[in-house]
Formats: sequence, structure tokens, C-alpha cells
Amino acid sequence: MDLNTDVRYIKGIGEKKAQALNKLGVFSLRDLVSFFPRKYEDRSETKPIALTAEGETVCVEAMVADTPRLTRVRRGLDLVKLRAVDESAVLDITFFNQPYAKDNLERGESYVFFGRIEANGARRSMVNPVYEKAGGERRVTGRIIPVYRVANGLNQRTMLQAVRQGLDACLDELPDVLPHAVRERCGLAQTGYAFENIHFPADFEALELARRRLIFEELFILACALGRIRGERARESGLLMSRGDLAKFWAAMPFEPTGAQRRAVEDGLRDMRSGAVMNRLVQGDVGSGKTLVAAALIWYAAQNGCLSAFMAPTEILAEQHLHTLTELLGPLGLRIGKLTGSMTAKEKRLVKEQLKTGGLDLVIGTHALFSQDVEYDRLGLVVTDEQHRFGVGQRSALIGKGQKPHVLVMSATPIPRTLALIIYGDLDVSVIDELPPGRRKVDTFAVDESYRARLNGFIRKLVGEGRQVFVVCPMVEENDELPQKLKSAEEHAEELRREFPDLRVACVHGKMKARDKEAVMASMVAGETDILVATTVIEVGVDVPNAALIVVENAERFGLSQLHQLRGRVGRGRHKSWCILVSDNDGEENRARLSIMTKTNDGFKISEEDLRLRGPGDFFGSRQHGLPEMHVADLGADVNVMQRAQQEAALLLAADPELKAPEHAPLRESVERMLKMNADSFN
Ligand code: ADP
Ligand code: MG
Repeated sequence: MDLNTDVRYIKGIGEKKAQALNKLGVFSLRDLVSFFPRKYEDRSETKPIALTAEGETVCVEAMVADTPRLTRVRRGLDLVKLRAVDESAVLDITFFNQPYAKDNLERGESYVFFGRIEANGARRSMVNPVYEKAGGERRVTGRIIPVYRVANGLNQRTMLQAVRQGLDACLDELPDVLPHAVRERCGLAQTGYAFENIHFPADFEALELARRRLIFEELFILACALGRIRGERARESGLLMSRGDLAKFWAAMPFEPTGAQRRAVEDGLRDMRSGAVMNRLVQGDVGSGKTLVAAALIWYAAQNGCLSAFMAPTEILAEQHLHTLTELLGPLGLRIGKLTGSMTAKEKRLVKEQLKTGGLDLVIGTHALFSQDVEYDRLGLVVTDEQHRFGVGQRSALIGKGQKPHVLVMSATPIPRTLALIIYGDLDVSVIDELPPGRRKVDTFAVDESYRARLNGFIRKLVGEGRQVFVVCPMVEENDELPQKLKSAEEHAEELRREFPDLRVACVHGKMKARDKEAVMASMVAGETDILVATTVIEVGVDVPNAALIVVENAERFGLSQLHQLRGRVGRGRHKSWCILVSDNDGEENRARLSIMTKTNDGFKISEEDLRLRGPGDFFGSRQHGLPEMHVADLGADVNVMQRAQQEAALLLAADPELKAPEHAPLRESVERMLKMNADSFN
């Protein structure tokens, strides 16, 4: 038997059970020993019968004192009863529907029984205990026992025996995927030890050592896989831009860039000068100044005679970017145009003509930028804002219009850095982890319904001072279980109109036509609306510097990262701003969550908390990007390990980019397996 042997050749596994194992994804012995337990049952404690207590699950070692009696109570109900004794007391044992127990257990022999104790005065009993002969090798009692996921036709005992055989047959053959030096540096257990103890831990400490090793191994393989993808992309040649520098650009800026902005710009510049294609994600909290980074690179592309296209998810955002970028780059002589769906055919034709003939240095627009009839001359840089609103396909449609233009993606969704590296497997990441100086934090409060009157008073006071207010309601699905408790945006807007008959209350939600949505948003931007009630459609980047308050209704319905995004809609101007989270859910978990919001304004901290609370599955649940499937590692919880694994992977790949060295063969195989099994995640 070796690692590739089919599981059907294991003793006790016939055709039927092999098929059941196949359903679990287990085909070979390698799969079997890599099929790690779902959890463990601690059966290590053994006690004298007299010292056991009601409800306790323990092992007792006792001799069968009488011949087990089989009674057929009725069809479908067999009982085997027996009595076992140790030096301290008697234990009555009953088996339901296990007639074979009668023959397995012999009078006068000693066994270890594991089960739940039922106590009645001094009497002790157990129902359906697990048992094995005392004095022999302990397989199912007296130790920590693995519990596996099973399929129809398999039970724990079969699994346990199969895994045991698998380990016995090929433990020595398991290749060490980790290079020796890595294992030493990181203080990790050996392969054989890890596989033995992840299944049959000698004790909890051994289990921990095994887990640590295997988690690291899995994340290391993942890190190598990601590193290889990026390495391959990096070798794709792109437009080489080498002319000029940014001196004139920086000199023209109205403010000093933050250190983080400068670093992100330098990252991008290095890419564009490298001769390879840039594929870079700039990730920064709302208000961290990502636009400036884009502007710098657009300027640099223009210096090199190249056109840049800047793609925004909505017309309003395109308009805002046009405004900002014209302010920054116009004075430097860049020729800037706009292309959006709402322009007249004539306007569009004019811009398209300019794009084709090199009449522009920068075009800002929406999806219209990649419609079929748009041709670009010298397209050198594609910038997309708020990446998660564009599908990967849309991004590549625009990229396809140039000869491998450089790509800069900007996202304000603060994802923990390690996860960003995984999700945007094809992108290098620059993080802007510093806000421009002088930002005032948005004061955040979590309140309940009893606060309503005061809240309304506060809204009135702020609007009286000339400020504007956002109110966000959760999306109400038609099949929602508690629709009566959730206010839809429309209902809530009605309520506010009754409360504030003299104020201008508008409402925007996802079911409206794009054009109507944009009109409502535009009136908010223009200051013609005092209170805008919205669903999360306002989550993305709209800039209303005059808005000083955002109220989130049913805040318990939102993820922390989402709340943080929403909060970023205010505090963008010179006015002191507030965020009020209204929730009547006083569950401990909800209160703890909301209190995180009141304590920090740091998007990365919040997303890490969010990830910790919800797990990576939920965190990314609604996103288009799937995460690679992990066996032991938890992408949310094992962030530090991932970081370490990435460092080690980077070192290794620098020395052996394609893992060609013979000693890296097992690793290369695992990396290739991971890439193949998760092809969808590594888009
Ligand atoms: P975001 O990252 O959310 O896109 P923006 O690029 O819109 O952020 O910048 C937010 C605000 O901060 C803008 O008003 C911008 O002018 C200002 N800003 C950007 N960088 C700096 C800086 N280094 N110093 C001062 N203000 C800055
Ligand atoms: Mg922005």
C-alpha cells in the first residue's frame, strides 16, 4: 500500500464504504490521512465507578460480572443488559439495539467502558457505552478520540479504523512539504508527528503542535500558490514608462501627501517603470486620499505620452472624480474628458473622436468607457474606483482595449491585508493606512428606540444649522421573517416627513431606476435635500461634505465593515460629524459589535473584528469572490500565521521562483494541487 492506493483496498472497506468515502472526497490513502477530524472527544479520563457523578462522560474500567442478557422487547427494540464491577462499585449497562454486544462482552473479562453516567443514589448506569478490552491497545477509550465527518454508510468506528490503517501503512511515506529550514525557523512539528497527532493525539499539547504545523503548511502552500500567480503576471511585459518624474506634480499639489500616499505612489511608479504590467490594488479607508495616488500615476502616464481611463461605478461618482481630478490635474495642462451613459449622442461622439485621435490625456466615466464602439489611442493606464462594484470581466473588457495597459484598482473596503492578498490574487497590494492630518473622528453612538425623541431633536438642530443628514435603513426582503419590525426606507421616509413637515426629505433605494436614483443623489449633493433616507446604495463613495450626521436604523442588520463604510459618508467636510446606530436588539453579541464602532474609526481594525466575529465565509458571503477552501486553517482567525507563511513563501520563491529544486518537489506538487482545486478563487 502506498499513498496512491485506492481506499477500497483497506481492510474493512468494501465497495459500498469506498463509495461513501468517495462522496467525502476521499479516494486514495493520501486523501484519507488528509481527511482531518471535525472535532475531538476527550475520553482520556478514567475513574473508579463510585467517584463518577450524574451526567459526567468518563471511562471506567470494570469486569463483566454476569452473562449479558438479550431481551427482545418488541419488534425493532432489543435490549442487552449486563452488570460490570470495579473495586469501588457496580455499573449497570444497557445496550439498545446492539444485540451483538451480548457476544462481544464476556463474563469475567475486564473492559473499558466510555459513556455518560446516570446516577441514582449510589447506583450508577450507562446506556450504549463505547467499549474495548482492558489491557490491550487503547483505540476508542482512554484517549482523545477523533470525530470525523461521515457520509451515509459510514460510522465513526469504521472511519477510525480506516484512518488508523491508512496511517500505519503510509505515515513514513508522507513527504515533507515544508523545506527543512522553514520548519526549523518556525519551530514546527515533523510531518509524521503532525499527521499521527491530528488524528490520534497523544494529548492536547500534541494536538496543538500538530494543528500548528498543519495550519502553517496549508497557509504556506496557499502563499506559494499566490506568489507564483503574481510571479507569472509580473513576467508579463507591459508598457515601459520611464520618462520624467513627479517633481512638478508634487509641487502643484495643494497639500503634502501623507507617508502612506507617497509609498503607494512609489509602488505604482516602480511598477510602471519596470517593463512589466502593473496590477495594483490601492486599499485605503474612506477619506484616506486614494484619488491623489491615482492622480499622480495618471500624471506620470501623461508624461509618457499615454492616455489614462478612470472608471467609476456611478455617474455621480464619475462627476465627482471629474471635478476633483480637473482641479488637481487641469492646472498641470492635462486634457481631461468625460464619457458617461447619460451624455447625448453628439457629446459622446465628440469624446470618442478625441479618444481615438489622442486628443485627451485622461477620460473619466462609467461603464460607457468600455462599450464596444469606444477606441483608444495609447491607452496606458486604467484606474477603477471601488473595485467590488465591477465584475472582473468588466475590468478586463476595458483592459482589453489597450495593449496591456497598467491597472490600478482602488478599494475602500478595508479587508485585512492578508485576505486582500488572497482575494485579489492577481493584484499587488498597497495599503494606505494613514489618514491626512487634521481629520476629525466621527463621534459614534449606539442607541435604542427610547432615544428617538432626542434623536429627532438632534436632526432638527443640525438641519437648522444648515447641515444635511443621511438616514440608512436595511434592505427589506419580501420573504424576511420579521418585516413588521424592520422599517423599509420608504416607510421610514414617510415617518420623517410627518415628523419634519417643513424639511426636504428624499428617499433612494435599490429598486428605483438608475436614473431616478442618480437624480435623488444629485439633489443631496447639491444641497437641495435636508434628509436623505436610503438603503445601502449610498455605501459607495458619494461625497457630501455638508452632511454631518448619519443615522443607521436597525443597525443590528449590518456588518461592521458595512457600518464603517456608511459612517464614511460623513465627516468629509469641515463640520464636526456624528454617526448614530439605532438598534433595539440588546443581545450581548450585538451590543459588543456596535460598541466596537463607537470605540474606533480605524477601518482595518473594524474589518478584522468583523472577520473574527463572522468568519471568512460570511464576511465574503455576498461577494463575487470565493475564498480558496481550507482544511485546517481558518483564513479569518489565522491571520498571523498567514503573515508568517507569506514571509517564508516570499523568501523561498525569491530563491526558487518555480519550485524547480528537487527538494521542493513535494511542495510544488501541493501548490499545483491547490491551484487546480481552487481555480475559481484565483481568478
Ligand atoms: P478616498 O480615499 O476616500 O477616495 P479622497 O481621495 O476622496 O479619499 O480624499 C478625501 C479628502 O482628503 C479629499 O477632500 C482630499 O482633497 C483630501 N486629501 C487627500 N490627501 C490629502 C493630504 N495628503 N492632505 C490633506 N488632505 C488630503
Ligand atoms: Mg474615493
